[in-house]
Amino acid sequence: MRLLTFDVGGQTRLGAEHRGRIIDLQNAASLRELAQHGLSAANAVAERLPADTLAFLERGESALTAARETLGWIQDWPADIWYALDGQSAVIYREDQVRRRAPILRPPKIICLGLNYRDHAAESGMPVPKEPVLFSKYATSVIGPDEPIRLPTDSTEVDYEAELVFVIGKRGRYIPAAEAMAYVAGYMCGHDVSARDYQLRRGGGQWMAGKTFDTFAPMGPALVTADEIPDPNALALSCRVNGETLQNSSTREFVFTVAQVVSYLSGIMTLEPGDVVFTGTPPGVGFARRPPVLLQDGDVVEIEVERIGVLRNPVRADRRG
Ligand code: MN
Repeated sequence: MRLLTFDVGGQTRLGAEHRGRIIDLQNAASLRELAQHGLSAANAVAERLPADTLAFLERGESALTAARETLGWIQDWPADIWYALDGQSAVIYREDQVRRRAPILRPPKIICLGLNYRDHAAESGMPVPKEPVLFSKYATSVIGPDEPIRLPTDSTEVDYEAELVFVIGKRGRYIPAAEAMAYVAGYMCGHDVSARDYQLRRGGGQWMAGKTFDTFAPMGPALVTADEIPDPNALALSCRVNGETLQNSSTREFVFTVAQVVSYLSGIMTLEPGDVVFTGTPPGVGFARRPPVLLQDGDVVEIEVERIGVLRNPVRADRRG
């Protein structure tokens, strides 16, 4: 499934892409129960299939199954019925009737890996790490597709980083690598926007400050469930700025695989449903280029990951106040 979070009529809802349309999963499940088992069954759907992505992930396999059954029920419907009336809650929407948001609006944790591609470590002049290099972002940095990345007023070196992001689906601590993939709910494109002046020089070089300005964690366009990604360690990924390809690689170049990262992190902290992990970026970032390429007001950045899609964000100068 390709899950997404979207806004319509002043509400934020959990949806799934289906035959070029967007299905409101909870409304669709309620309608199915109403048709098959009556009103009280329809009213019970909210508990089983929450409209909030984080609550949905916390329900685990039972919510995923309910969502799949709902999409199966809709499968044979003609594509052009049951659209939203303007601004009203409905079952099926066209893309232009909704606004996509980040698939997870406020992840409990946003954990990021540095230097997880062999070639990128080399281009940064750093040794290939023997243990994962970790840093974090905060929920205020999250934005979704098409939302602007804001250039901070006091950074002059904002850079792009294309990344595969995975999402935790099950609570766990001390997870063996051999069992780790059962804890991954799915995958998204991620953009680890980075203010290099803060990250590498200001205040002695502060990774966290450089990485977690507001809008510095774009994610999307959908949360693709793990069953649709047979091997996350073999996905092409790329970054385009204004249509020009500046990063083009594969997660085959990972230093640490998704399973190794899950296992390592769970040795430090309890992983929880909805936690997101940025898995590092391949070579080609702007500050390592000669001359450097830095993001400017008016740029458009696209992060593409095989089997997931394209995450596109415009870049805008920020203003104080
Ligand atoms: Mn990164």
